[in-house]
Amino acid sequence: MVIGIIGAGASGMAAALAASEYEDAQVVLMERQARVGRKLAATGNGRCNLTNLHANEQGYHGDEPTFASDALSRYDVENTLDWFKRMGLYTVAEESGRVYPYSDQANSVVDVLRFALNRPNIRLLTGFEVAKVKKIDAGFRVEGTEETILCDKLIIACGGLAGTKLGGSMAGYKFLRSFGHKCTKLRPTLVQLKSSWSGCAALKGVRANCHAAIFHNGEMHLESTGELQFTEYGLSGPVMFEISRDACQGNGEWICRLDFLPDVERDSLKAELIRRKSTGWNAEDLLTGILHNRLGRVLTQSVGIKGLWKIADLNEDEIDAVCNGVKCFDVALTEPMGMDAAQVTAGGIVTSEFAPQTMESRLVPGLYACGEVLDVDGDCGGYNLQWAWSSGRLAGHHAGGNI
Ligand SMILES: Cc1cc2nc3c(=O)[nH]c(=O)nc-3n(C[C@H](O)[C@H](O)[C@H](O)COP(=O)(O)OP(=O)(O)OC[C@H]3O[C@@H](n4cnc5c(N)ncnc54)[C@H](O)[C@@H]3O)c2cc1C
Repeated sequence: MVIGIIGAGASGMAAALAASEYEDAQVVLMERQARVGRKLAATGNGRCNLTNLHANEQGYHGDEPTFASDALSRYDVENTLDWFKRMGLYTVAEESGRVYPYSDQANSVVDVLRFALNRPNIRLLTGFEVAKVKKIDAGFRVEGTEETILCDKLIIACGGLAGTKLGGSMAGYKFLRSFGHKCTKLRPTLVQLKSSWSGCAALKGVRANCHAAIFHNGEMHLESTGELQFTEYGLSGPVMFEISRDACQGNGEWICRLDFLPDVERDSLKAELIRRKSTGWNAEDLLTGILHNRLGRVLTQSVGIKGLWKIADLNEDEIDAVCNGVKCFDVALTEPMGMDAAQVTAGGIVTSEFAPQTMESRLVPGLYACGEVLDVDGDCGGYNLQWAWSSGRLAGHHAGGNI
C-alpha cells in the first residue's frame, strides 16, 4: 500500500515514521523545499521548544477545541519524549515546562528525524513541489514538479500560512478545499502586535520582564507574565506571543497595559523613589538600577518629567505619575504583524469534517490531514509542535495500519 504524504515538516515527518512502522506500507514523503524540517530548524529561536510538560487540551484553540484531545492523549508528552529518546534525542525541561533538545540546537531535532526517515520503505522526495492532487478510483493522483505519484492513501501535512519565509503557504488549504473541505478565517497568532506609540521605536531591542494585559474597549482580552521585547513597530517577546491570539481583530480600542515590576508593590516602589530625593541625581536616573536605563528614561519622560530636572525637586504627584508609568503603562495597539512574522496560523480546515480518532476525512475516505493546516492552534511554549507530533503520528499510524 502506497501512502503519499505532502510536506516534510514536523507533522509530515512524524506521519511518515508512524506509517512506515507497517511492513506493507510504502511511504512517499514529498517536500517542496530542498531539505526537510526547514521551519522546525528555526523554531524556539533556533533552540526548538519541542513540547511542554504541562501541555493539556486547555492550551489548544479552534472552533472545536476538543478535536485535538484524542491525538494528544494517545501520543501524550511522555509518549512523545520517549519516541524522541528512541530516535536518539536527549532533551531537557525548563522550570516552565518547556522542553528543548539538550544540545540547545533545533537542528538536533531535525537531524534525528532526518536520520530516522532513512528506512527502506520511505521514499523522500525533496525539492518536490506538489501542484495538484486528485481523487481517482484506486486512490489519489499527486502531481509534482517532475513526477506524478499514485497512492492509495494521502496525508496532507503542508502546515499553515504563518512563517511564510520558512515555508508557510496556502497549499494545504488549497488541496483540502479541492476535495470539498471548508476552511475557517485564517489569522496570525503568536505574533508581534503593532503600536501607534512612538516610544516603541525609541525602545527598540529593550527587553523587560513584565505583566502584560490586553484590553479591548476596556474589557480584558488575555493576560500573562513574562519577557516583553520592544521592536520598531510595537510589542514582541514571549509574553506578547502568549496573549496575541485574536488581539486587534475587532474594531474599537485595543491597548496593552504593562506592569514593569509585577513583583514589587507600588508603595514599596514609591518609598524607594522618595528615598532618591536625597540623592542629588537628575530625574533621568530616577529609575536607574530598577529598570533598563532606556526604559526608565522613556517612562519618566512620558509622564512629562524632563531628564535634567533634579529628583529632589519632584513633587509627590510627579513621583506618583512615575509609579503609575512603571506599574500601569498603557500602550495603544493597532494591528498584528502579518503572517510572515507570525509563528502560527489560527483557523484552518474545519475539524468537524475529520475523525479525531484517526485524522481521516469524513468526506473522502483515505484522505488525512495533520498539523497546522487544521483549525487547531496551541498556546506559546511547545504546544504547537506537540500537536504536530501527535496529529502526525495518529494520521500515519491509521493510514499505515488502520489502527
Ligand atoms: C519562527 C517560528 C518559531 C516557532 N517556534 C515554535 C516553538 O518553539 N515551539 C512550537 O511548539 N512551535 C513553534 N512554532 C510553530 C511550529 O513550527 C508549527 O506549528 C509546526 O511546524 C507545524 O507543523 P506542520 O507539520 O503542520 O507544518 P510545517 O512544519 O510548516 O511543515 C509543512 C511542510 O510542508 C511543505 N509544503 C507546503 N506546501 C507544499 C507543497 N505544495 N509540496 C510539497 N511540500 C509542501 C513545507 O515546505 C513545509 O516543510 C514556530 C513557528 C515559527 C514560524
